[in-house]
Amino acid sequence: MSLYDLEITQWQTLLSKEPKFRTNQIWEAIHKNAIRPEELTSLPKRLRDTLSQTRDLDSGLQLQRLVADDNGLTEKALFRLHDGRIIETVLMHYPERSTVCISSQAGCAMNCRFCATGQQGFFRHLSTGEIVEQVIWAISRTSHTRGTERRLSNIVFMGMGEPLANTRNVFRALERINKAIGIGARHITVSTVGIIPGIRQFASLDAQYNLAVSLHAANDQKRSLLVPINSQYPLEKLLAALEEYFRSTKRRISFEWAMIDGVNDTDQDAQDLIRISIPLQAHVNLIPLNPTPGWPALGSPSARVRAFAQLLAQAGVTVSVRDNRGTGIAAACGQLAGTASSLGGDERLYSDSSAKIDLRDLLD
Ligand code: SF4
Repeated sequence: MSLYDLEITQWQTLLSKEPKFRTNQIWEAIHKNAIRPEELTSLPKRLRDTLSQTRDLDSGLQLQRLVADDNGLTEKALFRLHDGRIIETVLMHYPERSTVCISSQAGCAMNCRFCATGQQGFFRHLSTGEIVEQVIWAISRTSHTRGTERRLSNIVFMGMGEPLANTRNVFRALERINKAIGIGARHITVSTVGIIPGIRQFASLDAQYNLAVSLHAANDQKRSLLVPINSQYPLEKLLAALEEYFRSTKRRISFEWAMIDGVNDTDQDAQDLIRISIPLQAHVNLIPLNPTPGWPALGSPSARVRAFAQLLAQAGVTVSVRDNRGTGIAAACGQLAGTASSLGGDERLYSDSSAKIDLRDLLD
């Protein structure tokens, strides 16, 4: 259990013998200032002592290791949970913003072919507190490591796990991050592989959060190979759900597309993607594939990425090529595995060019 699993009503009960304002005082301090209750010097000492001895007010995340890449601008934290499970959180600093990529599950059941988390399997959902506490860590880390003028500005649910398979805890965490911590909904992005019931629930939140869909292929045969959940929620149904989402929320969706050499980076793939992006006015993010030990495919060469992006742009699709942050510490998209070996080190696993995959092997 994390300190951040307690809802405000539970704090009210816990502090029922204290003046009423204490609840808000502590609630604001732990969320807005990332301060633990017993460190809050404006509280009477006897209350701080009591809180420090209260069960269930412990941290839910124990920092095991912290590694950095990109001259310290990308940091990956490996946290141990109360039951020994390991999760990873990645903090990235850019000139104009600081973004944290947080996990929503320990492991993942979606089994996407190219993803180190999926290759591990699913262990459990993270609680609301365990999700929120990753953001609290990032707030604190951002102000300490990059100077007090810098603040955490963006949250992306693109770490370990499928957020829309853990809607109850993720939606509570979204509300807490938005309302209690104060990060604007437009600065928070939830990424999904296309869980249709979750997308509908997400639309019904009636908030300004962003939705990103990990698409990776725009025909069913190829997508089911890369993203197996596509067999359950095929493209036709997924696109209908996204159209409904777009109509009801007026929020533009973004498509994530890991560029895999010879697999989904042909001109025909670009045409398929254009056909489905235009009606949704979707923004496309191209991400050269980050290699993982469990799947020996390579990212597309940069010339192919540029040509693919150009085809999209010429057809009127807004497109960006994602910066590949944290590859040296296995912190980039698809590389989070929550194991000591995922902290980088075994270069052989990540650079075997003889392991280039042949599309025909996939489609057989
Ligand atoms: S890409 Fe996302 S949904 Fe797919 S296996 Fe990895 S963590 Fe799960």
